[in-house]
Amino acid sequence: MGKCKNITRLLSDALDRPLKTGEWVAIRLHLPTCSGCRNYRKQIRLLRVAARSMSGIATPDSTGSDD
Ligand SMILES: [Zn+2]
Repeated sequence: MGKCKNITRLLSDALDRPLKTGEWVAIRLHLPTCSGCRNYRKQIRLLRVAARSMSGIATPDSTGSDD
C-alpha cells in the first residue's frame, strides 16, 4: 500500500491549509482501514498542540522517513 505516504502527507498538510474535498475523501476512506495512519493523525495532533503551547520555539522539521 503506497497510499500511506500520500495520506500522512495530506494529514500534515491539513494542519497548514484546507484540504480539497477529494483529499478529505481519500483520508476518510483510508483511515478506517489503516491503524498506522490513525496513529499518525493522533501524533501530529499532539505535536500541533505542543507546538502551539510553546509558541516562539521553532520545531525541527523531522519527517523521520526511515523505512
Ligand atoms: Zn495508511
